[in-house]
Amino acid sequence: MNSLRKGKLVLIMGPMFSGKTSRLIEFLEREMIAGRRISLYKPKVDSRYSETEVVTHKGIRLPATVLDTSENGVQKLRAEVTVSDAVGVDEAQFWPTDTNLPRILEEIAFLGKTVYVSVLNRDHRGEPFGSAMELLARADDVESLTAVCARCGDDAYFTQRVLGGREVFGEQVQVGGKELYEPRCRNCFVRPT
Ligand SMILES: [Zn+2]
Repeated sequence: MNSLRKGKLVLIMGPMFSGKTSRLIEFLEREMIAGRRISLYKPKVDSRYSETEVVTHKGIRLPATVLDTSENGVQKLRAEVTVSDAVGVDEAQFWPTDTNLPRILEEIAFLGKTVYVSVLNRDHRGEPFGSAMELLARADDVESLTAVCARCGDDAYFTQRVLGGREVFGEQVQVGGKELYEPRCRNCFVRPT
């Protein structure tokens, strides 16, 4: 049966607080209901919740393998997914552009597997984030999610880093939640000067 299946690379894209992880887990739950073997991966940098499972904001939990955001991590994923029918990768932007994550995920789709990837497309400066752009180019389907702008309530496409009520800018990777980030629409988003 597996040899007849068509592979697919599905990208779930949006700012923080747009429900990307929940959507990823929904897709994987559907695969499980269909009797397919799934595996789920997340980057080591993301330690907001448990190290060994992905937890959605709704509290749904799925066991996850934590991978280094290096080429080693990518190759580990490649070796492990041979037994899976569907593969999920959460927060794929954390793999830098000098790793082969996008290429390998597409290769897995060519093997007939369905690959679901959640990705933050922009960093807190509004610039493309890590592997996001190459994943976009290689994806079959793209689901673009929005959050709610913390300032005006419009659809938010940006993630603003905020400290003590003021917009701040710094290193691209700084793990945080609602204490450090808020969704903003294009009008309310403040760019670095
Ligand atoms: Zn706004």
